Parts: sequence; C-alpha cells; structure tokens
Amino acid sequence: MEESLHRSISSFDGKKAFGHLEYMESLGPRVPDSPAIESLRSYILETGSKTKAEYFRQDYSFDFRGIDTNFSNLAYIFKGRKPGKKILLGTHYDSRVIADRENDGALRNMPIMGINDGGSGTAVFIELLGIINDNRPDDDVALVFFDAEDVGNIDGHEFSEGAEYFARHFDEFKPDEVIVIDMIGGTDACYQLDYEAFYSTTSNKLATKIWQTGINLGLKPFTSNSKFEGSFFICDHTPFVKRNIPSMLLIDINYRWWHTQDDMVSHCSPASLEAAGKVLLHHIYNLS
Ligand SMILES: [Zn+2]
Repeated sequence: MEESLHRSISSFDGKKAFGHLEYMESLGPRVPDSPAIESLRSYILETGSKTKAEYFRQDYSFDFRGIDTNFSNLAYIFKGRKPGKKILLGTHYDSRVIADRENDGALRNMPIMGINDGGSGTAVFIELLGIINDNRPDDDVALVFFDAEDVGNIDGHEFSEGAEYFARHFDEFKPDEVIVIDMIGGTDACYQLDYEAFYSTTSNKLATKIWQTGINLGLKPFTSNSKFEGSFFICDHTPFVKRNIPSMLLIDINYRWWHTQDDMVSHCSPASLEAAGKVLLHHIYNLS
C-alpha cells in the first residue's frame, strides 16, 4: 500500500492538470449561467462519474446584476478507511464577469478567462479525483468545486457566496478542517496564506504543516521568495473561518494577471499545479 501510494502521489502530473486549463481556455469565460461554465460542469462530472465518491450537487440562485442567476456547487465525498477527521478541500470554478484590474475601460468591462483564478484549483482537483479514488485515504475527504466566488465586490456580493451557501446548507459533510486553493498555477508562483493562519492556533497548526510539507518536498512556490506570511483575504475558506473550523487558503496573490484579460494559460505552468496537487496529497495521506 505504502509504496503504491507513494507512486500515485509522485505520479501527480502537472502536465495533465495543465491540459484541463487548456480545455477551460477553449471554453471561454466561465461566467454565471454561461454555456462555458455548463460545459466545465459536464467535464468535471464526467471525471467524477468514474469514481466511487458520493456525489452531491447544490443548486441555488440569487440576484446578480439585476438578474435571477443560477449557481451550482459540486461536491465529491470519499469515505475514509477509518473513522477519522473530515477534510474539506475546496476551490472555485467560476470566472469573473469584469476585469477590475485592467486600466482600459473597454477591457475592464469584459469577462475574464480566469485560468489561474478559478481554473488552476479546478484543474488540480480534476486530477485529484482519480488519484484519491485509486488510494482510499484513512480520513474522509471531500473535494468541493464552489461556484459564485468571483461575484465578489460586485453589487455587494462577497468573494465566498458559493462556499457560504455550502457551509449553511450542506449537512452531509461537516468538515473538521478546510483547505482552499486558488490562483496556485501561475508561472513562478509564490504562495501566500490568509491572515487566519496566524490568528487562530488551530488554523496555524494546519497551515504550518502544509507549508512545511511544501518546503520538505522542495516545491518552488513554497521555497523561492516565498515566506510563511500572508494578509487578510476573503475567499472560499472564509465561511468556515466564521464557523471556527481550522481553515486555510493557499494563494499566489501577487499573480500579475489577476483580474485582467491576460489571466490565461500562457501565464500558468504545470510545475505550479503539480506543487499544489502534491502538497494536498501529502497532507490527506498524512505523509510529510
Ligand atoms: Zn477572482
């Protein structure tokens, strides 16, 4: 078991994850209620259907820019081999309807591809579905694809609407710890952490373990110019922070193309995707 597990983890293939990013770019911006986001859902479901995970879909709607808009969280739950803790891994898969960080007004009002922002975590999770399915962890693990993250700061919405809906309504999986990844796939990524990792003792313990694993593995986003530091972010981990669950966010907030039209495949790298994937696998299988 141990040896095949190690093989599976080291077989996490950043290039395969990168292929999912290329597919996402071919779909176009995955804004709410778009054919692109529906196609990505089908793509996730196709991979998920090949696993033995329990699948849950949460559909909900709210007013977004004056229109009643539909959103869906997709959750895959892998039952552990032992009665242990419940680990929730989360990422968002939607992309933003505007490009706030563009200087040019015309570009600013157009939706973005969100290949690193939303896309990168999704690509990693699509790969994790297969690996976790082949190697049942001791603990229960949920992979959750959140919708409605990048509605944040538009019409007063938060950058965590989908995760908030999940935390409020989903009774099938009450996590003991939550790890959210977002914007982890940029070229030369340097990861950062949310302030929560320094504020709460239990979240700090979780973040320290993840960070140390990244360093032990010599993964560049943890070692090159990265420091165990961060600032205050609202993202999909926030609803769990509010509920006093040990939670952390892994993010490369200095990604140059964040919320611009250039958040594209050309600014992402297989190595960064692989770093995030490997560190999560080491964590859920209790390796360090
Ligand atoms: Zn965003």
